[in-house]
Amino acid sequence: MTKEKPIYVVGHKKPDTDSICSAIAYSRYLTDKGEKAVPCRAGELNEETKFVLKAFKEKSPLLLSSAKNKTLVLVDHNEATQSPDHIEEAEILEVLDHHKISFQSEKPIFFHSEPIGATASIVAKLYLYDKTVKLTGSTAGILLSAILSDTVVFRSPTTTKQDVEIAGKLARKAGIKDMERFGLEIKRTKASLAGKSAEKIITSDLKEYEFGRKKIALGQVEVCGLEEIKTREKELIEGLNSLAQKKRYNLVLLIATDILAMGSEILFWGEEKYIEKAFGKKPHNHTLYLKGVMSRKQQIVPPLTKVLSR
Ligand code: MN
Ligand code: MN
Repeated sequence: MTKEKPIYVVGHKKPDTDSICSAIAYSRYLTDKGEKAVPCRAGELNEETKFVLKAFKEKSPLLLSSAKNKTLVLVDHNEATQSPDHIEEAEILEVLDHHKISFQSEKPIFFHSEPIGATASIVAKLYLYDKTVKLTGSTAGILLSAILSDTVVFRSPTTTKQDVEIAGKLARKAGIKDMERFGLEIKRTKASLAGKSAEKIITSDLKEYEFGRKKIALGQVEVCGLEEIKTREKELIEGLNSLAQKKRYNLVLLIATDILAMGSEILFWGEEKYIEKAFGKKPHNHTLYLKGVMSRKQQIVPPLTKVLSR
């Protein structure tokens, strides 16, 4: 690695707190190691991330609108479709991630993947086990925030023992006494639906999947209590209907995850039989409540994949 060419550290599009904070903290780690690293973002910050950066007096990273001819480290994703545009014209040095692996490389690279609650946990481990780099209070604070965010304050089934241990160490360093309280404060900043249109609620975190000829889309929103969702149910289902028409989805879901009650209200439009088969419960007026369900990647995608791939 040469000194002249900077290494851009970047997370996925529609960035979340883990993508942003892992990019900042890992770029700082590389800089401490003598590299010229620049933290980046692949899109606009959400309210939660803005709150976190402000809390620890951290600046918003640089917007990387094109990866063309750049040298990159990818954090919190490894699928090209989620990377900044022109990723195929970039040189990727390294990947740090905790998602399923869909990555190919023509030459050897560092690929660091773990089944853990957040990419920030991987970055934190590098700091905690390498005494030659300095972990500042604000770096600890943003890494802790990213872990609390991705694990939904340790409520998501993706949470591991290591995440909880690492978070405890970071909290001491960052001067956060009550992780539970701080974590819920972070989550609440994004949890209000007030002032957001139905379309915005449905599409702000929407992922598409294809199963043969069937196309589905799963949006997720985190809420503190389901009152707002219930009040706007008709409008949201109507929104799902128009989106399904427009994009020709066989099925489109809005997963409203109640982080306090630890369950999800599913609103959907499309072929109901798949919902009934996947979750073993009969939906009612385009809705279905799933107790204990918090994670799209671990609890929603697998059962739907099973019934849709038949
Ligand atoms: Mn992420
Ligand atoms: Mn993540």
